[in-house]
Amino acid sequence: MAFSIFQTLLGCLPLLCFVSVTDGMPDPTQRDLLIREEASRQTGGRVTLTAAEQELDAYLHRLKEKEMSAAQFPPALHFFRAKPLIQQSSIFKVLQKMPKGAALHIHSSSLVSVDWLVKNVTYRPHCYICFTWDNSVRFLFSDRQPFPRWNCFYWQLLETLRAKIKDPAGFDNSLMQRLTLFTEDPDGEYPNQDVVWEKFERAFIAAAGLITHAPVLRDYLYQGLEELHRDNVMYLELRSGLSKTYELDGTIHDKVWSLKTFQDVTKKFTADYPDFLGARIIFSVHRALSVSEVRAAVEEAIQLQKEFPDVVAGFDLVGREDSGRTLWYFREALSLPAEVGVTLPYFFHAGETDKEGTDVDQNILDALLFNSTRIGHGYALVHHPLAKDLSRKLDVAVELCPISNQVLKLVSDLRNHPAAVLMSEGHPMVISSDDPSLFGTTGLSYDFYQAFVGIGGLKANLGTLKELAVNSIRYSSLPAHLKDTALLMWQNKWHAFISDEA
Ligand SMILES: [Zn+2]
Repeated sequence: MAFSIFQTLLGCLPLLCFVSVTDGMPDPTQRDLLIREEASRQTGGRVTLTAAEQELDAYLHRLKEKEMSAAQFPPALHFFRAKPLIQQSSIFKVLQKMPKGAALHIHSSSLVSVDWLVKNVTYRPHCYICFTWDNSVRFLFSDRQPFPRWNCFYWQLLETLRAKIKDPAGFDNSLMQRLTLFTEDPDGEYPNQDVVWEKFERAFIAAAGLITHAPVLRDYLYQGLEELHRDNVMYLELRSGLSKTYELDGTIHDKVWSLKTFQDVTKKFTADYPDFLGARIIFSVHRALSVSEVRAAVEEAIQLQKEFPDVVAGFDLVGREDSGRTLWYFREALSLPAEVGVTLPYFFHAGETDKEGTDVDQNILDALLFNSTRIGHGYALVHHPLAKDLSRKLDVAVELCPISNQVLKLVSDLRNHPAAVLMSEGHPMVISSDDPSLFGTTGLSYDFYQAFVGIGGLKANLGTLKELAVNSIRYSSLPAHLKDTALLMWQNKWHAFISDEA
């Protein structure tokens, strides 16, 4: 009986029609055919490699076998422990040199390495610091002693404070610790998702006073582009709330100022580095806001996109999904563009959860129903067969951020990341880094390493890497003609990379 059901099921799938199941030795030719067919379905499975590419692929394969059989396998460890091992990995060194295309999922408040924030920004004149009761810090640039604010009653000028400190390096390290999630004991310090998310949100608030100082913002954005460029990334889509910025004398600039600054910095950067294509903003607000506030934000996004069509790519809701409001909760606000007859592309975070069956878990389906251009994370997608089919049919790519998912405790061993299923099926996908400064990553190479070595395993090959890089351009918000330009630029870089590596 079971056998006939099996045959009936097989009858539905084209290739499997020809499979004959017997009690004896399976047909080796048929077995090979099935293995090849399955491999062809994975991300990059249909990419044809040149002779030089095949050579590099074979080299990477050998390296991967070696790393997989080592005593400590980096993707199986917490990233904070794995990072020094990854830095020594020969695969990682190749990935650093590889042109990776675009970074499509990074948040503006976590764009630049904390090292730069502390060693550069906090050493600038007029920088005040205040230590809060909950072991956090606040910073403020001011041309006079700041008034008490943000629960801070005692502001000290950092320059004066540093002059009194005996161990300046230790002091700087303590500042860095408050601006990032890094710890030597991640499992002990972050026993669950609530604790790690609390520290995550606190670190964002701590960095705000530095980043929103108008002269810093300019340098910060430039530095962020430089760190990406150094890692062979050529284009960025940055999620940003376009926070108000302030001058030394307390003057406040609005969102339009931030957007113009972003545009100016990007222009200057692409003039300095002509092999960098540019950057755009996905205007984002927190999902803790009320419906009317989100409605106002959507209206604002429409307006900003009208004024800056080359810079504003679309709209998203950010913040922890599990403790925030669902997309469906905001349905009226999110329907506004259609109601007034304008197009506002959405780039929703959705399915960054392991709480199956909750209202939050439906965000994935709702993101697709709201015609989201891409899905941020989509960690829960494999548990939703219908939404998964829909995302494939609509060609809506998942933005996979492996290190973020691990550090924020959705998965511990990255070999068990659900995206392994998506990769084996060749689901539309791009790789990104989410919050590089908070996780202690730079560029995309660390996340590419985890996807290529941990999630993809031995199956993932150079074709996988090539497709992931091309996907980042294909699924970007760039208009068609700029996608063509980007692809051409990327191809030239790829050829140079292959001839250097092979
Ligand atoms: Zn994110």
